[in-house]
Amino acid sequence: AVWVSEIMLQQTQVATVIDYYNRWMQKWPTLQALAQASLEEVNELWAGLGYYSRGKRLQEAARKVVSELAGQMPRTAEDLQKLLPGVGRYTAGAIASISYGQATGVVDGNVIRVLCRLRCIGADSSSLAVIERLWDMANALVDRSRPGDFNQALMELGATVCVPKAPLCGECPVKQHCRARRRKLFGKPAPVPDVEDCGVGSCPLCPPAAEPWDSSLGVTNFPRKAAKKQPRAARTATCVLERRGCHGAPEYLIVQRPSSGLLAGLWEFPSLPLAQGLQEEKQREVLADHLRAWTGRPVVAGGLRFIGEVVHIFSHIHQTYVVYSLPLDGDVTLDPALSPSRWVTEKEFHASAVSTAMKKVL
Ligand code: SF4
Repeated sequence: AVWVSEIMLQQTQVATVIDYYNRWMQKWPTLQALAQASLEEVNELWAGLGYYSRGKRLQEAARKVVSELAGQMPRTAEDLQKLLPGVGRYTAGAIASISYGQATGVVDGNVIRVLCRLRCIGADSSSLAVIERLWDMANALVDRSRPGDFNQALMELGATVCVPKAPLCGECPVKQHCRARRRKLFGKPAPVPDVEDCGVGSCPLCPPAAEPWDSSLGVTNFPRKAAKKQPRAARTATCVLERRGCHGAPEYLIVQRPSSGLLAGLWEFPSLPLAQGLQEEKQREVLADHLRAWTGRPVVAGGLRFIGEVVHIFSHIHQTYVVYSLPLDGDVTLDPALSPSRWVTEKEFHASAVSTAMKKVL
């Protein structure tokens, strides 16, 4: 349960996760049950939660525990990280401390913020030097008798008190230890306590000389982050092919994406990445060609109805779907040589392993 929740909570808000977590635990309450699930079932339950490789790896890891590790979960952070697909340093530390009581720290976004403020660490908090130092600190600080509670408390402190924009320093239980707060109150750096803590010259933990303390920011001077990379812009033409089903209700053609890469194994309307700057007329032509392959019949570019554009932000891609629709008469024989495809009603569509972006498209 701890493992599932930790994986679901990566990059995802608690409020979003709760329903997925409850359904998942009800469906697969044990590792054995999860090991027997199909990837399709996993993707269906995960649909809408994003970062789909997480579900896939969770299931691969469950299979590994059952088939290669005699059903026994590894019990230390080192083994968890080494042996289980999808379990990184943070998740390994969280599972080992919360589930198995190992006195090992965790460093997540909340912990980075709290520790950088506590110790006035102003260098880029995503740099290797800072991250390694934060792990050392987390491992040194963790309560030996209640490591799971301590780690959760530290993360909760970051989530509720030492929040990014307006931290509640007056109510903070560790305020007397906080160097950022001391600096804000007394307007000067804390006395240098130790050469090792605050090296002279090119300290890899101090703010760069070009960006000194900004008094208008107070404690939120920390942590510092390198400028975020702008997401890459991409355009994809997608077509909702529609036919009348047996009871006259509309049905839509969905096709399966490749088993690796972005949205691996998920279902979508037939789609085609578009080259930058392609004219509308040309877009229709390439899409019509693509649809011809799916439907096995000629598709006239002029018959495609332009519906509009849907923008969806993936972590690193600013994706614009250029949406067309095309009603089809009569039966359509799908070519089995292509990726799997099927016709679905609207209800079936929503129960399928489709991404949030495709739901917006529909
Ligand atoms: Fe964060 Fe303020 Fe507490 Fe320091 S005193 S840890 S800045 S909430």
